[in-house]
Order: sequence, then C-alpha cells, then structure tokens
Amino acid sequence: MSIRAKLAWTFILLLIFGITAISSYSIVFIRNYLLSEGERQIINDTRWLAIAIQNLRSDEDFETNLNEIAYASGYRLAIYDEMGILYAEVPFHETARATQQLDSVLRDNFIRDGAMIVEDQADVDLLIAYALLQPLHNEAAYLKVTIHKERIYEPIKTIRWIIYTGMFISIGLVLLVSITFSRSITLPILQLEKAAREISDGNTTQSLNLERSDEIGTLAKSLNRMADRLRSDNIELKRLYQKQNQFFADITHEIRNPLHTIAGALEMLKMNTLDDAQREKYILTAERQTQRINRLFKDLVTLQRYDSDDQFIQVQSFDVLKIINIIVETLEPEAVEKGLSLITAGESCHVTADPDKIEQVLENLVTNAIKFTAEGSITINVHQEGGNAVVEVKDTGIGISGEHLDRLFDRFYRTDKARSRDKGGTGLGLSVVKSILEAHNSQIYVESEPGVGSRFWFSLPVAQ
Ligand code: ADP
Repeated sequence: MSIRAKLAWTFILLLIFGITAISSYSIVFIRNYLLSEGERQIINDTRWLAIAIQNLRSDEDFETNLNEIAYASGYRLAIYDEMGILYAEVPFHETARATQQLDSVLRDNFIRDGAMIVEDQADVDLLIAYALLQPLHNEAAYLKVTIHKERIYEPIKTIRWIIYTGMFISIGLVLLVSITFSRSITLPILQLEKAAREISDGNTTQSLNLERSDEIGTLAKSLNRMADRLRSDNIELKRLYQKQNQFFADITHEIRNPLHTIAGALEMLKMNTLDDAQREKYILTAERQTQRINRLFKDLVTLQRYDSDDQFIQVQSFDVLKIINIIVETLEPEAVEKGLSLITAGESCHVTADPDKIEQVLENLVTNAIKFTAEGSITINVHQEGGNAVVEVKDTGIGISGEHLDRLFDRFYRTDKARSRDKGGTGLGLSVVKSILEAHNSQIYVESEPGVGSRFWFSLPVAQ
C-alpha cells in the first residue's frame, strides 16, 4: 500500500471512529438526560394530579373528569381504593390494563414514608409514579401515574437525525480533506523519490525545485547538493580517466621510440662489415636511448609519488646557493662541451624546503637551458625578496613562443617533439618541476622570447 493510501486510510478511520464515538456518546447522554428530566417531571405532575383528583366528587361525572385530567396531563392514571383495589383507570385500554390489586409491600411503604415512589426499571418500558391521596369527596386512596419511556425519548428522534446527518456530512468532508491532505503531503515525497531514482540511474543534471521550509524542503536541498556533488565528481572522474588514458598513450609512445632506436642500433651491430668508429657510434646511440628510458622512469616515479605520497617532500633548512653550486659542478662539463658558460650569481640564502627535490628542480631547468641553448650563457641566480628567496635560471637559447607557455608544464608537452627527443628529453622535466614546487606551495614562472632566450624562476620561503 502506498504512503498516500496509508495516510488517507489512517485519517479516515481515525476520524470516522472519532465522529461515531462522539455521536453515540451524545445520543446516550441525551437519552439519560431526557429520562432524568422525565422523572423530575412525573414527580411534579403527580403532585398536582393528586391534588386535582383528591378534589373530584364521586358522582356520575367522576370518570369523565378523571378522563379529562388524564388527557390534559398526557399520563395514564390508575386509582386504587383504601384496600388497594383498582377503582378507576383512564384512558381505558383493553390491551394495557393496570394491575387490579396494589402490591401490599408498596402500600406499606406509602403508609410508612407518606412519600411518592417512582419506578424506573431498565428492563421495563414504563416510568411509574405513585402518590398517596387524601380524598375529600371520593374513595380514591392511591394514585398510579404511568407514562411510556418512548414518549420521553421522543425529542431524541429528531436530535438523532440531526446527529446522523451531521455525522455523514462530517465523514464526507473527512474523506475529501484526508484525500487532499494526504495528496499534498505525499506529492513532494513522490517527487523526492523520483529525483533519488533518477540520481541512482546516473541522471544528475536535474535539480529539485521545492520551495519549502520544512523537513521535506531540507531533504530536497540535501538531494540537490548530493546530485551536484555527484555531477562534479563524475566530471572530475571523466577528466581523470581521459588524463590517465592520455598518460598511458604518451608513456607507451615515449618508450616505444627509444626501444626502436636501440633495436635498430643492435641490428646494425650484428653486421660484420662495420668498422670500429661505426660500431662505437651505434653502441653510443643504444646507451643514450637506455639512459633516456631510465630518465623517463625516474621522472614517472617522481610524478607518481607526488600524486599519491603525503610524505613526498621532507622540508629542512639549507643554503640554496650550495645546491646551485652542486648543480653547476655536475652540469658544467656538458655546458662547456657545447661552448656555453654556466654563471652563478647571488649570495648564500637559507630556505625551508626539501633539498633533494629542489636539486632535482634546478637540474631539470639547467639541463633544459643547456639543451635548448646553442651559444651564449646560462645564469643561475638567487636573491632575497621580502621573506622569500627567488631562484632563477636564465639562458640565451632558442626561446619559447607565446602559444606554448600555457601548456609548457603539462606532462609530455613539448614545443618541438622531434627536437626534444633528439636531445634525449622525456617531456616530463617541467611537469616534475611544477609538481615539486606545488608540493612546496610554490609555483614555477616563465618568460621567454623566441631567438633571445628564456627565464624560469620560483621562490622558496627563507628559513627563520
Ligand atoms: P623535455 O624532456 O622535452 O625537455 P620538459 O618538460 O623539460 O621536457 O620541457 C618541455 C618542453 O619545453 C621542451 O620540449 C622544450 O620544447 C621546452 N623548453 C623547456 N625548457 C626550455 C628552454 N630553456 N628553452 C627553450 N625551450 C624549452
């Protein structure tokens, strides 16, 4: 059974039960009230009937006068003499004769109490009152006044109809109200249920528009928030999925290229006709490509750790100039080989960062500068600016045109793929730089002019 039907039935049953109970109670209450009023009335009436009958003369008009009194009062009257024998009975009905002899116990009670007795037994349809007479002109000694309870209950017939009509009208209204009310309560619940079903089916584009300030309104808002969250999570998941696919495609491509070159070199080396110089050349090619794959895996491991390891960087205080000097020492032979001068500028400056990772950043930037500079110099500079140490790597190389600058730090992005691969690049160097600096809450900046040179810089907090 639906919630709407359950609610409607609950209201209907409760209200029908309530209305019926109130109506029945009202009828019983009114019946009891009428009966007690009837008893009071019969006592009063019996008193004046007794006075009237006491004064009747026992002549030929006695019966007629008695009849008139009975008619006027609306009661049945029975009169008994001193011995308790029925003396007169009006109005006379063959089918409803009064007892011929008054009960002696009853008569004794009259004599003892001199009172009026009202008989009202639940199983008897009659209400009876007795009175002791002190007759002046006749032999009447006891008066018995009788009335049918039905006559007392007569007004209730009309009242009962009023109550029943009211009851049916109320039940009709209750049906109408409960159906409308349950519909208004369950409608938003049905809307919520539909929205939840759509969300579970993956449709998170719709939002519920319930302008309510009650619990249902709160639930609708939570559901909307849930759908929004799911929607953005879905978009993010799709984006990550595409990124991951692209990443795997790039890796495959990056490994396949050097492997091909190595396979080619090995093939050539199998030939007996090669002289020593040619043999040396192919061995060197294979070695370079092996180093490239090695670098690729090293960069991948760094990026993977950046993505997943909370402990990716271990900060400490160190002199950034010392790291610059190490890099210069390591890469100077490479620069000199190309006829480039490697210049260090700036003063000693202690920063709070991970020294190994900053060394990797500088190594990547300086290696790139050497790779993409044909003549001139590469300057590595550090200077203090406010609370930060600004480190920059500047070259006089080929430069980078503006359209590449936005995507320069993306994984596997190169301005010139063929040239980068020729130079043994993995396409991951700058994204490693970016990731390491982001882990330090820092950023890498670049400015460059094609044919003039490039400048990469970043800042690190000076140690306290
Ligand atoms: P790669 O391994 O190819 O050097 P990077 O991520 O380090 O990969 O660099 C991405 C690309 O950015 C390079 O392929 C190159 O085109 C460009 N690039 C990086 N540094 C420089 C530089 N100093 N001068 C000119 N171009 C650069």
